[in-house]
Amino acid sequence: MKALVLKEYKKLVYEEVHQPQPGPDDLLIQVQACAICGSDVHGLDGSTGRRIPPLIMGHEASGLVAGVGTQVRRFSVGQRVTFDSTIYCGHCFYCRQGQINLCTKRRVLGVSCADYRQNGAFAEYVVIPEHIAYPLPDGLSFEAAAMVEPVAIAYHALQRAAVKLNDNAVVFGAGMIGLFVIQLLKIAGCGKIVAIDLDPDKLALAKKLGATHTFTANQGDYLPAIHGLTNGRGADLAFEVVGTGQVLKSAIDALRQGGTAVLVGNLSSSADLPLQQVVTREIRLLGSCASAGEYPTCLDLIQRQAVKVEPLISAVAPLAEGAAWFERLYAGERGLMKVILKPNRVENKREGDQDHGS
Ligand SMILES: [Zn+2]
Ligand SMILES: [Zn+2]
Repeated sequence: MKALVLKEYKKLVYEEVHQPQPGPDDLLIQVQACAICGSDVHGLDGSTGRRIPPLIMGHEASGLVAGVGTQVRRFSVGQRVTFDSTIYCGHCFYCRQGQINLCTKRRVLGVSCADYRQNGAFAEYVVIPEHIAYPLPDGLSFEAAAMVEPVAIAYHALQRAAVKLNDNAVVFGAGMIGLFVIQLLKIAGCGKIVAIDLDPDKLALAKKLGATHTFTANQGDYLPAIHGLTNGRGADLAFEVVGTGQVLKSAIDALRQGGTAVLVGNLSSSADLPLQQVVTREIRLLGSCASAGEYPTCLDLIQRQAVKVEPLISAVAPLAEGAAWFERLYAGERGLMKVILKPNRVENKREGDQDHGS
């Protein structure tokens, strides 16, 4: 089969590799769509230590069941599915209480680190355990289904915060996850939903998708404005979806006493904490990692278009052209958000047409 392989840091090659074989509890998936995640782009240069080559990346995907292991009961060949990015064991202390994102044997598709290597879905086929797969609702496209992972990450962040009707919230970072957080805060019945970002284009999109107010991050004076919007108190909730010390500090400053900050971003591995502020103002800091079984709910929200994914899809392209799209994302091309790669063999549709370089 063909796959997009990270051969060495910053070097992606579309090439022939061995097709994986499903074990007894596995599904063989013919990948129909796989989205490029920010973590794949950041992982490209080795800076995160989570994409050690050689590796097939890709964990935001959907496809058709093309084969089933001998023990598989819930799925059959031809079924349309998506799957969790996390492979969890189902038996450990955390899995048994539903915290599958904290599984002690957790592996992430398309990730290789010191502990494991798990090839992902930038390939014609990928093998996944049956228990992480979810059937697609009728009418939901493969491309839209490939967006469910970031929606689920945003959904999990809201679950952590226990959002209440008419809460005022500030979202720091209007990238992919931030824009889904904003849409979900609107659905959850929040009052003021403030988006902060450096990029005016993202802020315009944030406004379209549910933010009531937007501020450019480098224009400094948005904190008094947030206090002005919240009876001088500060926001009930802050979502930190960037992951730097500076933004964390701003998130804490934006909160009222007793407010809650949900920390999703983690660009920096550590950050200074304004300790006295957190203690004396009784700020709650909650980490939020991946998602814990929220996929079916999120698939339903996407299918009903309560959560809109289309405005965030910048391009749908053949997997063969993946390396070039990674380059453009790595360069931080303005206006480029989600890129979805499709590994379908072009020759299946148009015989003799080889002009996609496959
Ligand atoms: Zn992702
Ligand atoms: Zn587990």
